[in-house]
Amino acid sequence: MAVSLKPERSPTKAYVVGAGLAGLSAAVELARAGVKVHLADSAPRAGGRCRSYHDAQLGQTIDNGNHFVFSGNQAVARYLTTIGTAGALHGPDHARFAFHDLATGERWNLAVNDGRLPLWLLDKARRAPGTRLSEYAGLARLALARRDSRSIGDLLQTNGRFWDRVIEPMMLAVLNCPPAQGSAWLAGRFLRDSFLRGGQACRTMVAMPTLDAAFIDPALRWLALRGTTPRFSARLRAIAFAEDRVEALDFGEGLEPVHDAAVVLAVPPWVAGELVPGLVVPDRFCAILNVHFAHAPPVDAPMITALLGTLAQWLVCHPDRISVTISGADDVIDRDRAGLAAQIWDEVSHALGITAPLPRWQVVKEKRATFAATPAQDARRPQAKTRWHNLFLAGDWVQNGLPATIEGALRSGDSAARLAMGENLRYGAGT
Ligand SMILES: Cc1cc2nc3c(=O)[nH]c(=O)nc-3n(C[C@H](O)[C@H](O)[C@H](O)COP(=O)(O)OP(=O)(O)OC[C@H]3O[C@@H](n4cnc5c(N)ncnc54)[C@H](O)[C@@H]3O)c2cc1C
Repeated sequence: MAVSLKPERSPTKAYVVGAGLAGLSAAVELARAGVKVHLADSAPRAGGRCRSYHDAQLGQTIDNGNHFVFSGNQAVARYLTTIGTAGALHGPDHARFAFHDLATGERWNLAVNDGRLPLWLLDKARRAPGTRLSEYAGLARLALARRDSRSIGDLLQTNGRFWDRVIEPMMLAVLNCPPAQGSAWLAGRFLRDSFLRGGQACRTMVAMPTLDAAFIDPALRWLALRGTTPRFSARLRAIAFAEDRVEALDFGEGLEPVHDAAVVLAVPPWVAGELVPGLVVPDRFCAILNVHFAHAPPVDAPMITALLGTLAQWLVCHPDRISVTISGADDVIDRDRAGLAAQIWDEVSHALGITAPLPRWQVVKEKRATFAATPAQDARRPQAKTRWHNLFLAGDWVQNGLPATIEGALRSGDSAARLAMGENLRYGAGT
């Protein structure tokens, strides 16, 4: 859907507040169009929830958590191509999802064929064991779901092998909330963008060696070449509004008039909710826990394995380390770190056939990793356009037609930038 919202005239200057992926995406699109961008973030660095850091305990540079994107993600491809890191994503040549059920000892691959016609479903060996062809019609039911109050549990049976081995692990990772309560519409939007476009669109890709190297540092360099030097440790404390526009921003050093500039607010929802009067934002969040082990994986291990029957959910083999993700981790996030590391190493070493004792480890807890992707929370996501004609919202929590994802955050930043410049939306408003 193309929406045209031409401002009186395109701004020559823009403030982008928040240098997470949504803010970086907005800044890149604005700078590409020749707009002078002022980028600020309250943190001492860029990246927000998608970042890397040198971990002294491990002696390695790691990501705050494993981040998966799909080969068919359009905004990811556009953003990485622009900043020059299109080759930084690594994944298989064909869509193969390795599963290992540690409770039963079974291993299998969900093997999606390359083309759009889902021929893989006809081959029992390419499906999850014990699932029937007819059950996969559930994917189509989700893909056709409308944007209403129905959850996945309202549309699909929430027990049995198809649920346990296909829907639950996939949707827990995608929605980061209990899948039965997750928005059927958001689940469907994800499926339409990935599985329903065929295997070549749903190869799971990981940024190597790090998120920063793929998504963050090159974007900052690209922006620097276009005259944008971000201000870090600069927290936006207040916005001064006139009746129909933002007049000034307060970063703690007095009011900064914005004059004719556009303002893209790309901060988390709870911050935007405090800065913008009357703004309704998602207010329930779900945790993600990652545990990293300084141990090289066996050479023949798949890059990504979904584990079932364990606390660990997704196991990612980097060349120099093994990282495990637990989504929807609210029940375990407050558990003692050493106990978590020991239990998960036990599971990981069992899955990979490693006999070594617990190596150096790190547990990274993100309590408000994403908004809870339920229908009620999705209904609280605002549009990018606000009632102030020079203020635009960006973030994975702003309406973008996807759950809280890298693709959604990048689309959202792109949309905010295009609205600020009076351009048609590239990805639609998401409704
Ligand atoms: C552990 C983890 C694993 C994830 N896994 C995946 C995955 O596998 N696949 C996937 O697609 N997505 C994943 N995500 C989600 C993905 O990371 C997010 O959707 C994306 O990073 C959100 O970007 P954003 O710019 O919208 O928000 P943020 O990254 O939260 O950026 C907001 C920025 O605003 C800044 N800020 C806050 N307050 C102020 C203020 N007052 N003034 C100025 N700046 C301010 C913050 O410092 C931050 O840099 C994961 C997230 C986490 C936490």
